[in-house]
Amino acid sequence: MPAKSKTASTAVEPLVVVQPKKGDKIRIGAHTSISGGVSESIPRAVALGFTAAQIFVKNNKQWFAPELKPEEVELFRRRRDEADLVVFGHNSYLVNPGSPKPDVFDTSVKSLIAELERADALGLPFLVMHPGAHGGAGEEEGLKRVVEGLNQVTRVTPKVKTRLAIENTAGQGSCLGAKFEHLAYLLNHVAEPQRFGVCLDTAHLLESGYDIRDAKSYEATFREFEKVIGVSWLLGWHLNDSKTPLGSRVDRHEHLGEGHVGMETFRLLMQDKRWRHLPKVLETPKSEDMHEDVESLKKIYPFIN
Ligand SMILES: [Zn+2]
Ligand SMILES: [Zn+2]
Repeated sequence: MPAKSKTASTAVEPLVVVQPKKGDKIRIGAHTSISGGVSESIPRAVALGFTAAQIFVKNNKQWFAPELKPEEVELFRRRRDEADLVVFGHNSYLVNPGSPKPDVFDTSVKSLIAELERADALGLPFLVMHPGAHGGAGEEEGLKRVVEGLNQVTRVTPKVKTRLAIENTAGQGSCLGAKFEHLAYLLNHVAEPQRFGVCLDTAHLLESGYDIRDAKSYEATFREFEKVIGVSWLLGWHLNDSKTPLGSRVDRHEHLGEGHVGMETFRLLMQDKRWRHLPKVLETPKSEDMHEDVESLKKIYPFIN
C-alpha cells in the first residue's frame, strides 16, 4: 500500500518521458492522489511525466462515497485522453469478500460493486483488488467466500467493462493471495472469469516467498506463474521494493533499490518483453509533491530499451 512519508518537500524536477526505441510507449508512473476530485489526478501525473497512473476511485478509507458528478467524470476522461495517460484503479483497503462475518462480507460486496461502477464510469481498464482475508476460517473456506462475493459483484454489473485485477499479496495474517494457486483458484471458479485478471506486486512476491532477486530465481518464479496462472491474465504491475526479506509475509513497501528486492529485479522486469506493454506503477512512500516517485522512476528509466 502507498504509505505517506514525512520527508520535507523539495523542488520537483519533471521527468523526461523516455520513449522506447521500438514498439509502443512504455506505460510507467505511480499511484497518484485524487485529492480535490478524480480529475485532479491527471495534471499531477502529467506534471511528473507519468505515462501510467493508479488512483483510488474514492476515499479508500471509507466504504462508500457520494456519487461522482457527471461534470467530474467528463473532466477526468477529457484530461486523461488529452494527456494520453493510462489510468487504472485500486479498490478500498476495507473491502474483504473473504470475511467469515456476514455483515463484513455483504458490505464488502456492496462497496466493490459501487467502486467497480465508478471505475467503469471513468473508463478505467481495470480495478486492482486484494482478494481478502479468511479471518481464521481457513484458506479454502476463504477462497470459496471470495468466489461467492465476486459472483455477486459480476451478476449485478453485467454491462461493466472495467475488469477486476486480483493482486498477489504478502500473505500477512490470514490474507489470501500469497500463492499463485490462490489467484488461479479464483480465476478458475468465478462464474465470469473474462471479467477478471491479475496484478502482480514485486514487494508482495518477495514477501510471500517468491524469489525474484536475480535472473535465475526471477525466471523460475515466472515459469511457475506461467504454469499456474498464465501471462495472458496479467493486466498490470506494482513496482515496489520491500523493507522485509524473502518470505517475511510482512508487507512494507520501500523505495526501489533500497530494500530486499533490489534494482536487478526492476532491470529484469523492465526489459522483459512478456510485460513490456503492461502499465507499471510505484506504490512506494511519498510526500505530497511526489518527488520520491520522480527519483525512483529515474532509476528505472535507463533500463528501458
Ligand atoms: Zn503492499
Ligand atoms: Zn500493490
